[in-house]
Amino acid sequence: MALDSKVPQGPIKDKWTDYKNHIDLVNPANKRHIDVIVVGTGLAGGSASATLAELGYNVKAFAYQDSPRRAHSIAAQGGINAAKNYQGDGDSTYRLFYDTVKGGDYRSREANVYRLAEVSANIIDQCVAQGVPFARDYGGLLDNRSFGGVLVSRTFYAKGQTGQQLLLGAYSAMNRQIARGKIEMFNRHEMLDVVIVDGKARGIIARNLVTGEIERHSAHAVVIASGGYGNVYFLSTNAMGSNVTAGWKIHKKGAHFANPCYTQIHPTCIPRSGDYQSKLTLMSESLRNDGRIWVPKNMEDVIAIREGKKKPTDLSEAERDYYLERRYPAFGNLVPRDVASRAAKERCDAGYGVNATGEAVYLDFASAIIRYGNEQAKIKNINNPSDAKVQELGKAIVKAKYGNLFQMYEKIVDENPYETPMMIYPAVHYTMGGVWVDYNLMTTIPGCYAIGEANFSDHGANRLGASALMQGLADGYFVLPYTIGDYLADDIRTGKISTDTPEFEAAEKEVTERIEFFINNKGTHSVDYYHKKLGKIMWDKCGMSRNEAGLKEAIEEISALRKDFWKNVNVPGTATEYNEQLAKAGRVGDFLELGELFAKDALVREESAGGHFREEYQTEDGEAKRIKEFQFVSAWEYKGEPKDAVLHKEELVYENIEVKERSYK
Ligand SMILES: Cc1cc2nc3c(=O)[nH]c(=O)nc-3n(C[C@H](O)[C@H](O)[C@H](O)COP(=O)(O)OP(=O)(O)OC[C@H]3O[C@@H](n4cnc5c(N)ncnc54)[C@H](O)[C@@H]3O)c2cc1C
Repeated sequence: MALDSKVPQGPIKDKWTDYKNHIDLVNPANKRHIDVIVVGTGLAGGSASATLAELGYNVKAFAYQDSPRRAHSIAAQGGINAAKNYQGDGDSTYRLFYDTVKGGDYRSREANVYRLAEVSANIIDQCVAQGVPFARDYGGLLDNRSFGGVLVSRTFYAKGQTGQQLLLGAYSAMNRQIARGKIEMFNRHEMLDVVIVDGKARGIIARNLVTGEIERHSAHAVVIASGGYGNVYFLSTNAMGSNVTAGWKIHKKGAHFANPCYTQIHPTCIPRSGDYQSKLTLMSESLRNDGRIWVPKNMEDVIAIREGKKKPTDLSEAERDYYLERRYPAFGNLVPRDVASRAAKERCDAGYGVNATGEAVYLDFASAIIRYGNEQAKIKNINNPSDAKVQELGKAIVKAKYGNLFQMYEKIVDENPYETPMMIYPAVHYTMGGVWVDYNLMTTIPGCYAIGEANFSDHGANRLGASALMQGLADGYFVLPYTIGDYLADDIRTGKISTDTPEFEAAEKEVTERIEFFINNKGTHSVDYYHKKLGKIMWDKCGMSRNEAGLKEAIEEISALRKDFWKNVNVPGTATEYNEQLAKAGRVGDFLELGELFAKDALVREESAGGHFREEYQTEDGEAKRIKEFQFVSAWEYKGEPKDAVLHKEELVYENIEVKERSYK
């Protein structure tokens, strides 16, 4: 099957404008007769729900948390990109487009990325108008910092809580519509299937997580904004509840899944401390603006540090290897995430890791503290400041920029990062893969859309920092509200969609049977037992670097684990109460299927690109060879019952991604 990306004709810079000028519109009176379901109320779903309701559509929004405010988006720390060029450092729409495509190893759909760069500036205006308290400089103007893979400062931020502040903005916009009755909010509801009528998405089956009730909801279109699936690895920086279920359910009903194996492993996370850990913590990439990454140059120092005989601060500059500055002088510590992660792994694999497990490198703020301290002393007219004064002034600036991150680090590691370098190691963070969408953000199921991290998005094989918030809000505030209208213009005479149909009944029956299976199975192992085992296979064999033998083993092992899960899983409690284990069982069941697809996708990619690093394609100097020009899309057809371990037929298809527009490469 060849996929049609529906990218408009014409020069890339005019596509979006021309498209908007020519699409069908739904007039305000007709919008009142059209219902849209939005699954997810993070930044993507929250902004989409608020905007669609503002336009006049009737929105039904779903989230499994008790409030939209608790979506995983709230965890985003570092910032959001926009091509405003406030710093006058040469930024432009083209540069943001270029950086994003290059950062993604030329695997993004260029037309979507150009549109993203174009609307990025509007996002900042929109959020400022909502009252989002972005950081400001001394003169009161919006401040910027820099993120990996770019040579300009275009990242807008609110301390280390950018996601939280943006989400409060989207949530306020939603609340206005909830109060007007234009958004019906279904908190603590989990979508468990999509309902397709006459080939179009016309509703969902959801479970009320508090009462256990299974509900039918209809609409003229369904939007999936359910976030990323990094938790397939068990340990990740994602929120504990993040899962693939909504995307996976639509996949099983015909929505293609693209690039499932493209996973971002973020270089700056707090290292794992032991086997009983259930969560990893990110240290924002913004820290790489001022933190310098290093390991000791000499093995004796590594050993002495591990044995507690030396402290990192005992080592002179000459005894340190600032390996990113050494290997990548133009970008230094701000290389893209995939490059920084692999470089950390390379040093640790070579034995230079600085903690007990050998899986940690330093992120050091000592130079920044002195630099800021001296600058502040000048500003404050303090001549010949003492070392202590420089430290005091410098630490105050670092605290103002990253205070909450430093506090978080100290609480978890029990070390003061103002005094001793942080220890960091790469961890699973973001999934570039996801549900395939066309230029309209529509999946291969007509009337079913996917936005935000849930879609295969604009980030190719590797996402640049601060661009997920940009994409989620671009999709929700500025792209989907146009593209969905073009589709819904055909639905102005359809009238209410009934839920009293065989299609809804069949979908409900499937969901109910699966829940009954979990409750009645009374097996021997907990849901977490399987999740942890899956995570270990994923990390060991589909992690930061992959090879053919390991991927083949992973496929076998995941398949066996899935069979065991459907035989021996144990879910305590009942289906008619709040039962977190029951909800998790469904999600892990879906992860077990996704995991296998993931490994199969990685296996057929005989290339290295961004988040996918195939060992056999490493060149002698350690760089990845890029040999494939096409983006693969794995499309699976399902036959049989899920609990019979699913019979899959894999079909590899590819989409020719506008090779002409690659000439700038
Ligand atoms: C620790 C951390 C820090 C980050 N920092 C940054 C940053 O500084 N800048 C940046 O650009 N990006 C950052 N990212 C990435 C960014 O936060 C996410 O990509 C983005 O917030 C995802 O938004 P979303 O709206 O797509 O999904 P989410 O925020 O994950 O929202 C998903 C929504 O879907 C709902 N949902 C899911 N499944 C179902 C279901 N079956 N039924 C009903 N509801 C469902 C959930 O309840 C939730 O409302 C960070 C990520 C992490 C992990």
